[in-house]
Order: sequence, then C-alpha cells, then structure tokens
Amino acid sequence: MALLQISEPGKSTNPHEHRLAVGIDLGTTNSLVATVRSGEVKVLLDQEGRSLLPSVVHFRKDGDPQIGYPALEAIVNDPMNTIASAKRMIGRKTADIKSLRDQLPYNFDDESANVPRIITADGPRSAIEVSAEILTALKKRAEASLGGELNGVVITVPAYFDDAQRQATKDAARLAGLNVMRLLNEPTAAAIAYGLDQGSEGIYAIYDLGGGTFDVSILRLNKGVFEVLATAGDSALGGDDMDRLIAEWILDDIDDDGLSKDSYFLRQTMLAAREAKEALTDNDSTNINLSLPDGTIREIMLDRNTMNGLIAPVIDKTLLPCKRSLRDAGLQKDDIDAIVMVGGSTRVLSVKDKVEEFFSKKLYTDVDPDQVVAVGAAIQADILVGNRSADDMLLLDVIPLSLGIEIMGGMVEKIIPRNATIPVTRAQEFTTYKDGQTAMSIHVVQGERELVSDCRSLARFELREIPPMAAGSARIKVSFKVDADGLLSVSASESTTGVETHIDVKPSYGLTDEEIEQMLRDSIAHAEEDIHARQLAEQQVEAERVILALESALAVDGDKFLNEAEKSDLISAMEELKRLSDGGDADAIKRAINDLNELSEMFAARRMDASIRSVMAGHNINEFSD
Ligand code: ADP
Ligand code: MG
Repeated sequence: MALLQISEPGKSTNPHEHRLAVGIDLGTTNSLVATVRSGEVKVLLDQEGRSLLPSVVHFRKDGDPQIGYPALEAIVNDPMNTIASAKRMIGRKTADIKSLRDQLPYNFDDESANVPRIITADGPRSAIEVSAEILTALKKRAEASLGGELNGVVITVPAYFDDAQRQATKDAARLAGLNVMRLLNEPTAAAIAYGLDQGSEGIYAIYDLGGGTFDVSILRLNKGVFEVLATAGDSALGGDDMDRLIAEWILDDIDDDGLSKDSYFLRQTMLAAREAKEALTDNDSTNINLSLPDGTIREIMLDRNTMNGLIAPVIDKTLLPCKRSLRDAGLQKDDIDAIVMVGGSTRVLSVKDKVEEFFSKKLYTDVDPDQVVAVGAAIQADILVGNRSADDMLLLDVIPLSLGIEIMGGMVEKIIPRNATIPVTRAQEFTTYKDGQTAMSIHVVQGERELVSDCRSLARFELREIPPMAAGSARIKVSFKVDADGLLSVSASESTTGVETHIDVKPSYGLTDEEIEQMLRDSIAHAEEDIHARQLAEQQVEAERVILALESALAVDGDKFLNEAEKSDLISAMEELKRLSDGGDADAIKRAINDLNELSEMFAARRMDASIRSVMAGHNINEFSD
C-alpha cells in the first residue's frame, strides 16, 4: 500500500500566532474535548472539574436542554425525553434502525420517514440535532477555558463509519457552529496519542472497546510514518452489551416477570448493572441495591468471576474483527509488537486478560483509555490549524470495501480497492458499447463481489452529450476521489469533447458492520462462483457486441460483398452464437465467437478493401503516410 504524506495549506503561519484548535471525541457513551497548550495536551474540564461529558441530552418543554451528567439522571426519571447513544442512529435512515428502534423506549415521529426523529417534549429531534447539542456543550466548554473563539476542530469517528454517518457527523458540527478541519478515525487518534509516530519501527493493533462501538486497527510505523494496514470492527458492540447481560442476570435473580416489562425499572437495572461492572474493576465483589416498584429494596451480591462468565460472549465477539484485521493485513499475531488499549471498557480486567491471551503481546494501557482518543485528536487539530512545524505528518486511513462501477453484463469494475489508503484518487477509462451511443449511465457500487447484484448500490448518474462515434472509440474517464474524511465523489468526462459530469456520493443510507462483514465473507465464499459468473457475463457481452456489429454490417453491405451461400453460412453461425449465448457455458460461447469471427473475416476484408478504395479515390498514397 502506498504511503502518502500530505502537507496541509496554512502550515507556515506566524509562529507567535497561536490558533485555537481542539480535538473532540464524540463518543456513543461519553464525549471529551482536548487541546494542545504550550506543547502539552490538556483534556478540558467542566466547571465541576470533570473531563467526561456523558453523550446524553434531556429535552424539556420549557427551557434549554440538559446535556451530560444532569441528563444522565433524567434517563431514569424522564426516559422518553432523554436521548442517549444518538451516535448509533446518526446517518441512518428510519428503515435501517428498525431493530434498534424496537430496543429503544422512544416514540419515533413516523412522519419524518427518511431521517428518524424522536418525539420529545421540545419537539422531534434527529440524531444529528442531539449530537449538535453535545458538540455545542463541548464548544462552550472549550471557549470558556481557552478564552476565545475556536479556529477549527478535529472530530473523531469510528473507523467503520460510512459516508452517510461521516456526513451526518459533519452536519452536526455545522449545526453547532464548528469548523471541522478533519474527521479522524478513533483508533488512529489513539495511536497519535501514544506518540507511536515518534518512536521506532513497529506494528501495532489498536483495540478500542467503548460503550457502544468496537474498533480494531492494525498500524505499521516506519521511520516516523504511519501506514494503516487494516481496520475492522463492530458498531454495535461494547460496554452497554455487558450491562445488558448483567441486567438480565439481575432480573433472573429477582425472578419477577412483571418487572422486566416495566421500562423505568429496566433502565434503573441497566444503570445498576453498569455501576456494578465498573466497581468490579477495582473490587472482587460488589453489592447491587435495587429499589423495586413496590418500595422494597433488594440487595444482590455480584462477584467478579460471575460477571466474567456473564460478559465473556461480548469479549469473545471482539476477537473476530481482530482476526479479520490480521488476515486483511496479511499478518500473523506474532507480527504485532504491542496492543494499544482504548475505550472505557478496556478497564474491565477480563478484557485485558483475553486480549493479552489472544495476541500474546504487551498491552499499552498508560494513557487513560477514556481520554486517549481526544488527546490524539487534539494533537492532529494542532497540526492542521498550523501551530506545528511542517515536519509533523498526518495520519491517513483506509476504505473498508472496494468502490467501483457497473459495466456491461452486470459486472463490477473495481476502481478503488478495499483498504486503499485515503485520501485517494483513481481513474479508469471506459468506452461506449454501441455505435452512436451518446449517453452513458454510471452506476457507483461498493463491495467485493464480481456482480453488481451482489454489491451495494451507492449512486447513479449519467454522462450525456457524448459525440456519436463507433462503438469502442469514445474515451470516457471515470475518476473516483475519496477525501481524507472518507467521503466519495465521482466524475466522468469524455476526452474529445471535454463534457463532464460529477456527483458527490451521499448514499441514502450506509452499510452496517454486519453488512460489511457479510459482504467480505460472501466474497471469499463465492470467489470461484464469481469468477465463472464473470467469465460467462464477459463472453455474453462480447457475443452481443459481435452480433450487433455483424448484423449492422450485413444490413448495409451484406448483399454487396457476399453471395447467398456465404451469407446464409454467416447467419446460421450467428444464430448458433445467439443460442449459446442464452446458455451458461462460457467456453462454448467463446468458441462460437471465434468461429463466427473466422467465418466473417473475408466479409470484413472485402468491406475494408472497398472502404480504403473509396477513401483513396482521387488521392495519392503518400498523402496518407504519417
Ligand atoms: P464510547 O467511546 O462508546 O463513548 P467510552 O470509551 O467512554 O465509550 O467507554 C464507556 C464504557 O466504558 C461504558 O460501557 C462504561 O461502563 C465503561 N467503563 C468506564 N469505566 C469503567 C470501569 N472502571 N470499569 C469497567 N468499565 C468501565
Ligand atoms: Mg470512544
């Protein structure tokens, strides 16, 4: 994979002019803001001296929304108006979050079919607006503590966020009045926080288990430059799932079916489960106190071993993307030098144990796992805003699935391969299929399979006003550009006329991790089948092209250059090809194409002679040399 270093505009600013820039970790569970001051990274605190801002917003009928800790309390008291984990919904359409919706207590506004909106006491709110509230709170915190307006921010997102989710995050920032210089993948930010770019050579795995998302990335360092070898993850896996399993255990223990239908009680149990889990990081056992709806208090003891048994499936599930990222990077566990632990859930002791056991390598846990992403984002922001020397380089990420376009026969031509480092621009030339074709329909798809029907459709657009030419002679350049934020734009241009068309791809809804994983699994499972399908489709397209060309030549010149016997031989060979072309035997089609080509050679030769003679008529041969 190519190494890319980009120098950013505006780096050579006046060294005395310090511009205000912050890094924001916009987490599912908690968010943070950090900055670089006098060369040191500082996580900015709220007025009570706390660094975390719970990513929760409580909407109220009269008055501003409550954000963070006060809203956390409202989760229990006023659940319908208190939105948590908005990040799980951001950039998703109503249809995409159907199963998620069933787990949530909210009332959704079904009028707004496209973007899901939750009905609150203060009106319907989308995940973008909820995120904007959180970002606004962090912006205020930063401006109060830095004493001025921010010049720019870097916001982190999970490596697996697709185009729509990244775009929606940017929209939230715009709503909050922030100037986003870059979206940065969270694991990448963590690597920067550990200063891995300053150190020696090595290959690192970044293991990030938060409240609601899991990411793993494999990074290679060489002479102070990073190369992202692979990323994998699961955007619906984290500490919340541990809490749920513990809460189920608590409910089993209470053994009252009625209670599990009481949503107030369920939420209280989830919070109690989370508290117990966190307590078991430092203690061997803990007491869970629950007040039942009838006013009685139940005390339940939970010890660490029991909890470890309960949450083991969550931890085991994180090891699958770990394996996949190694495979994608073409590495063995042994090639990894160390693991960087990120996210609050890596405090859980059995997480550390299992990860260490899986990789058999040293874990990096020195930087606070809650803060490490914000710290890296702050360093990146400081570089981007121009406070650092030009020697500092910027880290780049990869795209999770190949991007390509549909070509004849329903096949996919990949233009940017999976795991290409971004930003990336790739172009490829295509041509017309039919004589006189004046428009071309461009269908952008994402996925690993050979056939369009097995990939995800991202966008369609048309290139028009192609001058009519013989099939195969137009030159159409299709360029794919994925910017540093992972957003795709596609343009197509015809070289003789310069007509051009362009589209920013904003897929109406994104791929879920499950879909990405499924697509990757399918591409491996179906590799052989796909090759056959592709060969067949290629031969069918070629057959159709040959038939079309021959039919039009016969119509024009058939009687001029062929006797009846020759003509009927050609036609029957053509009919044979048509018949085979409807079948499934690629080799037979190929043979029939060859037969037809051979048979039509003399026809083509006679037409050629005639056309040369007609062009040459009245000219001297020397006029044509050159
Ligand atoms: P996110 O990136 O999703 O916002 P965080 O990295 O802030 O999440 O991690 C939040 C998760 O970390 C929660 O599930 C929380 O319960 C868990 N967590 C925080 N502190 C501890 C602790 N001491 N022991 C175990 N889990 C913890
Ligand atoms: Mg996080």
